[in-house]
Amino acid sequence: TNDFSEVIENDRAHVWHHLSQHKKYETVDPMIMIEGKGIHVWDAKGNKYLDAVSGGVWTVNVGYGRETIANAVRDQLVKMNYFAQSAGSIPGSQFSKKLIEKMPGMSRVYFSNSGSEANEKAYKIVRQIAHNKYGGKKHKILYRDRDYHGTTITALSSSGQAQRKDQYGPFTPGFVEVPHCCEYRSQYGECDDYGIKAALAIEEVILREGPDTVGAIVLEPVTAGGGVITPPEGYWQKVQEICKKYDILLHIDEVVCGLGRTGKWFGYQHYDIKPDIVTMAKGVASGYAAISCTVTTEAVFNEFKNNPSDPMSYFRDISTFGGCAAGPAAALENMRIIEEENLLDNVTRMGAYLMDRLHGLKDKHQIVGDVRGKGLFCGLELVVDRKTKQPVDESVAQAVVADCFAQGVIIGATNRSLHGHNNTLCLSPALICTKANLDEIVGAIDKALTKVTAG
Ligand code: PMP
Repeated sequence: TNDFSEVIENDRAHVWHHLSQHKKYETVDPMIMIEGKGIHVWDAKGNKYLDAVSGGVWTVNVGYGRETIANAVRDQLVKMNYFAQSAGSIPGSQFSKKLIEKMPGMSRVYFSNSGSEANEKAYKIVRQIAHNKYGGKKHKILYRDRDYHGTTITALSSSGQAQRKDQYGPFTPGFVEVPHCCEYRSQYGECDDYGIKAALAIEEVILREGPDTVGAIVLEPVTAGGGVITPPEGYWQKVQEICKKYDILLHIDEVVCGLGRTGKWFGYQHYDIKPDIVTMAKGVASGYAAISCTVTTEAVFNEFKNNPSDPMSYFRDISTFGGCAAGPAAALENMRIIEEENLLDNVTRMGAYLMDRLHGLKDKHQIVGDVRGKGLFCGLELVVDRKTKQPVDESVAQAVVADCFAQGVIIGATNRSLHGHNNTLCLSPALICTKANLDEIVGAIDKALTKVTAG
């Protein structure tokens, strides 16, 4: 076997990791991933893991070691690696057509490189429309408490997770928080129309701010980092109705759910809604290339195209690496794989199986307060007491994650919205996963929960 001790030492000396990792790496060796195949990864010490979080952050949807994607990227790079976005590329043209085919009602694709950047582009579209069409009014953008939209200052300005925003202010003006929609932690007590109440709470904010000042609202179809939250029936239709009423653009952030994670191409497609703007990133090329997309309707695009007062308005943005052809080359092959291997069906079937098994864990372990999710995106919220729903300390969830890791299964813990309580175990295995993989994941969590609650 290779000796990776030098790699490990260089990493420890020079690489800026996520800060909680740094703390950990003072006492244990940094984790260096060497190889991946399917749903498994191997670290520099030769340990094999079942990756139940698709690269840690819901990204490697079609699994590791996909030679056809690597070859598509290689072939494209050798032939024509890059030209600025003012030109097109063969994979860019083919991928945008294929993508739009899966998004009835949508029409235009803008390429960039990260979820944050895709969201920033969406915000700039809203601001440009406000500037050109409404004389500067309708410039405000609403975002929900508990949702997350990215790492840049403006993406953070539109995020509702206090823990992540903590030290980065002052923030970009014009972003207004609206209440979250988490039935388990209902602000309205127990009720059978929670979704409607949560949507009407958004309308209240619109009326308070003044509808003529609000241009758009951005929402995650499943609130991911904020605790894997799926809104109940009726919510989305009501939100859309409110947007229509006040002429507010509906922007869905599909950075996590996009390209199959929930069993449909996009998370919003589970509901009867038609967004004006959709952003996506992680699963677009499953981590084989950096690519993100801001997709709009033709009506949104026409605000620029047909704008007589500012004919240059839709040329203003150029993302340098939005012109890198590796992105769409990888994305095109990624979509082909999802279709050819019927992965959306697999997600639906395996997601139902996983949900069933997780409810089994809830029946067995009092610490599990809530089980939720959609497709292969599930969360188990851990609580001290089911009645009070007091979240367990973050260290408890981390102990479960660490125990699973020691058993060779990588899971996550999230809920960055609940002020320091990352108490929701998170599962998002690759879309190719099998029942046997899911049994292994659930078995590891079962053992870890037993151990953690024994003391
Ligand atoms: N939106 C959502 C819903 C996300 O979860 C993330 C990343 N975790 C982002 C946007 C930002 O994406 P990126 O890290 O690629 O900038």
